[in-house]
Amino acid sequence: MSAACGKRWLLAKQRQPHKPAAEPAEAPQRPALQEVSQFMLLEREVELQYRPRMLEALQNKVNAVADSLRGQAPVCSQCHQPMQRHDTETVSWLARFGRLSALVARFRCPVCKDERRPLLDYLGVEPGRVSGSLARLLALLTVVAPYTLAAQLAWLLLSVKISPMGIWKVAQRLGESAARYSEQMSQYHADSRSEGASTQDAPPVVVLSVDGSMLGMQVRKQRRRRQGNEPLRPLPPVEEGKFQEVKTGVLLLPSERVETSPGRHSLVRRFLVCHLGDADTIFARLYAQLRELGWLDTANTMVVIVGDGAEWIWNRAKMFVRRCEILDFWHALEHAWSFARLNYGEGSQQADRWIHQIAEDLRAGKVQEVIARLKRMRPRTPELREQLQGLIAYYSANAERMRYDEYLLLGYGIGSGAVESAHKQVVHARFRQAGMRWSEAGARRLLALRLLLLNDQWALLDRLPMVSVA
Ligand SMILES: [Zn+2]
Repeated sequence: MSAACGKRWLLAKQRQPHKPAAEPAEAPQRPALQEVSQFMLLEREVELQYRPRMLEALQNKVNAVADSLRGQAPVCSQCHQPMQRHDTETVSWLARFGRLSALVARFRCPVCKDERRPLLDYLGVEPGRVSGSLARLLALLTVVAPYTLAAQLAWLLLSVKISPMGIWKVAQRLGESAARYSEQMSQYHADSRSEGASTQDAPPVVVLSVDGSMLGMQVRKQRRRRQGNEPLRPLPPVEEGKFQEVKTGVLLLPSERVETSPGRHSLVRRFLVCHLGDADTIFARLYAQLRELGWLDTANTMVVIVGDGAEWIWNRAKMFVRRCEILDFWHALEHAWSFARLNYGEGSQQADRWIHQIAEDLRAGKVQEVIARLKRMRPRTPELREQLQGLIAYYSANAERMRYDEYLLLGYGIGSGAVESAHKQVVHARFRQAGMRWSEAGARRLLALRLLLLNDQWALLDRLPMVSVA
């Protein structure tokens, strides 16, 4: 659903074929390598020397906590009676500097049979697992790189040996936690009694743009299981086109757009919202995010909604009382391009000129004139006539959303460039690499984590639990 096709097509025309370099006269020299610098060696030496000492220092701190808790019997959370020591075992877990261990006492309530291990509860670690801060670093790596690559990065950056599967598990647990948090946040704000940030400084205008793109999904819901001695049944053929739509929304303040160089705009801030699935949820999330930011004073804030022609966007946009709907300018042009290519020929000057005129007129707010001109055209073939009718219908249905001259004057902007670049950053860069197929849960969890990073809210993850996932 990219509106950039028209622009891309223009660029493609200018691309030159690659010419192989001529062979040099002399035989080539193998490229030289320099010695590793002295300072680099010093850095690494100190790191190697102090790493075990960091581990030792950390182990000492753990021991001190264990000592301080020794001899204190916890109280049963159900019947409030003191619990009794049941047994003691050595427990270990993996942290950034290596493996730690502690002698952990287990207490049991003689009545309710409830069990507790106060040392582990206090430290917030799980036996045999990765520690909380290491888990968050590993999750960070895999938010930017595929699991196998993240495992390599863990070794190169953190000197931690972990399998891709180990990283996958950590990402599932933290991702589930982050996904639940944002889900609960939108449920909370869907209730009129919720408290958002103060709207005292709510902006007069906020721009909200939404877009969707397809994610390749795994076809099989479950792994095949062998039954008795029977051989595994062959896999059903993979269906073509098993896709699900990821919807991305961007919130920004037009007053925070800055022109970095003539014609190039960039943003001071923007907030991203994402959802794999239905349209109602993405709008509930956008609304919750607006409330969290204190950007929505219902009576005064103008909500500018930029979208392509998709009905699901305009249907939900109605939830904002004060709103301005804008059809993305590039989508509007892209529709004209499809007709122009067919009518005047791919790459013809006539097509270029025709589009240029339409672009200029639309920008000037002359959408009705453009429609009238289209209606006067007499295409030669039934196919062309059908294309033209489609274009006229599209412009007529959206004419009220194509008052581009007014939007430009008001400073609202006319294109959904922000959401398209955001979408590429959130989705394409991590989820649409060659051959990637996602499970619904896997994609939802990793999306939630990636949003925390891109919204500069990674620290929030420290305060979310590592939930267990099936
Ligand atoms: Zn009890």
